Amino acid sequence: MRALVKHPDGPGLTLEEVPVPEPGPDEVLIRVHTTGICGTDLHIYEWDDWARSTVPAPMTVGHEFSGHIAALGSNVKGFEIGELVSAEGHVVCGKCRNCLAGRRHLCKEPRGLGVDIPGAFADYVVVPKQNVWRHVEGLDPEIAALFDPFGNAVHTALAFPVLGEDVLITGAGPIGLMAIPVVRKAGARNVVVSDPNEFRRSLAMEMGATVTVDPTTADWKTVQGELGMTEGFDIALEMSGSRYAMADILANTVHGARVALLGIPSDPYPIDWSTVIFNMLTIRGIYGREMYDTWYKMNILIQSGVDISPVISHRFSAEEYDRAFAAVRGGDAAKVLLRWAD
Ligand code: NAD
Ligand code: ZN
Repeated sequence: MRALVKHPDGPGLTLEEVPVPEPGPDEVLIRVHTTGICGTDLHIYEWDDWARSTVPAPMTVGHEFSGHIAALGSNVKGFEIGELVSAEGHVVCGKCRNCLAGRRHLCKEPRGLGVDIPGAFADYVVVPKQNVWRHVEGLDPEIAALFDPFGNAVHTALAFPVLGEDVLITGAGPIGLMAIPVVRKAGARNVVVSDPNEFRRSLAMEMGATVTVDPTTADWKTVQGELGMTEGFDIALEMSGSRYAMADILANTVHGARVALLGIPSDPYPIDWSTVIFNMLTIRGIYGREMYDTWYKMNILIQSGVDISPVISHRFSAEEYDRAFAAVRGGDAAKVLLRWAD
């Protein structure tokens, strides 16, 4: 089968022939249909310091995918050959305090598909049976391939109740974009999205933002005034990793605001803690997806009409992987998909 492999000798990936993996007794073999490129894959492609120190290359990369079940391990019950599935990309230890208590998203040492164990940028991938997620009947495999980052969006968007609230989303990357229709569905009043990238701001409007803001030139008080807001945003979803976005959040939220942090800063940075204290802000870190409540909610959101399809900006065949990664790096892109099957 074909697999997109990271070798340890420098940047780039190679599409090469490798044996089809055998599922163990508690594992499922999936024929991959569509995959999505994530920021993590870009770090691995570029073979930066994080990737070099984390990924035991050679390694098949990729964790955002959909596909059809091709074979079941001998202990696997409850799935059928041919079903459309995705998989939770964090394989939990099952033994730590949180795993034992059923809080698997808080596992002390999850292993990552396509990072620590062979991933999904391949014709076939093997995943543990407890990581397999069955999609609703008739779902488009391209939408199914978005469930990993859509899960990040849903986990963050639903971290706090947003009914009637004014929500600020900083960062209109694929995850920030997918959070827009979710907070809309959950009843937010205004959804203001900031991003310096114009292409992404236009996608944010398409996905249901009330208004978008270029944070490099924004007059935040005017933006709020035009929306009839008097005290600031009630909820902020930080989805950029930028310290400047965090400063915008601190300067523009109400007293008692709730702030969910998903964006991963490249370096530690100082923040104005006295604003956090005097304004009595609640700040919550968000990682991955809740297993499997976020996944359940994703199915329901899609069934109830939430449309995340505008986030797909580019589609390539697996062979065109270098062009696909170039599109991600180019910036005027959102979710870039690679197709592995007809
Ligand atoms: P992305 O990097 O494609 O998007 C980030 C966006 O933030 C870009 O469009 C960029 O222009 C914008 N931005 C930069 N500076 C900004 C500022 N000052 N104000 C507002 N926007 C600004 O990312 P993505 O794939 O959508 O992921 C979003 C973030 O979440 C990234 O930081 C990523 O590393 C992180 N992430 C976290 C988890 C998790 O589990 N916590 C999972 C996946 C991704
Ligand atoms: Zn654990």
